[in-house]
Amino acid sequence: MRLCRYDDDRLGVVVGDKVHDVTDAQTEIRAAAPYAGWADAVIAALPQWRSRLEDMAGRTLGKPVSSVKLLSPVARPSKLVAAPVNYKKHIEEMKRRTDVVVNNTASIGDAGMFLKANSSLIGPSATIPVRFPERTTEHEAEIVLIIGKQGSDITRAAALDHIAGYCVGLDMTVRGSEDRSFRKSMDGYSVVGPWLVTPDEIGDPDQLPIRLEVNGVEKQNSNTRDLIFDIRQLIVFASSFYTLYPGDVLFTGTPEGVGRIKAGDVIRVMSDPIGEMSVNVGAHTAEG
Ligand code: MN
Repeated sequence: MRLCRYDDDRLGVVVGDKVHDVTDAQTEIRAAAPYAGWADAVIAALPQWRSRLEDMAGRTLGKPVSSVKLLSPVARPSKLVAAPVNYKKHIEEMKRRTDVVVNNTASIGDAGMFLKANSSLIGPSATIPVRFPERTTEHEAEIVLIIGKQGSDITRAAALDHIAGYCVGLDMTVRGSEDRSFRKSMDGYSVVGPWLVTPDEIGDPDQLPIRLEVNGVEKQNSNTRDLIFDIRQLIVFASSFYTLYPGDVLFTGTPEGVGRIKAGDVIRVMSDPIGEMSVNVGAHTAEG
């Protein structure tokens, strides 16, 4: 199943090139969800609601997905967890850089993971507002996991059971000497989309392609088979430090080919079994 959020906070099931409105289910799920606790209500409810959502979708007339405004597939994650330096060739390219400050290329086991502000999360139809045009802002295409089941100290054998779905994402980054969490957390610097694809449509998560183009020119092209910490290990690692909750967003790291973007650019991120998203880059304004 492909689940999206769109327009004015509506919930949809994507079938082919159509989105089917299941917002009534979202309203019911949210109304029944406890306010206390960290889980995103809709993601937490998916195991119980999935077949009903598919039934509802089958009874509604879809509209072209190209005609809607796609939001982040998760409304309220408790956290955005991200893997730094998780592709060998990306570490090598960053070690070679002399044009920007590169302050941490330690292996992921030593560097750990980092958190991005939840308020940096946007969907593909929003524009990335470049906050510091005088500094180097770069694209990082990544496969993104959405956690579906609460867990702490998750084992490798159980890791995939904790995934609600897969997305593609952009971990937008200002290069510089500040802590990663500071320079990767500006409004709009975490793009996730185009929708959540459930694991049954994915196949082997260790064979997922990830590609990125800027203005039609390919810049990044890799596959999760080249990850240093693979998807299972990332879940083990993250959950050894904190409980993962339904709706938590996990960026798996970017491969080689990162590069500078500027207002006016169009970034396209794609992964064959997931889908693709096209995201516009603009300028930050005081009004947001
Ligand atoms: Mn990244």
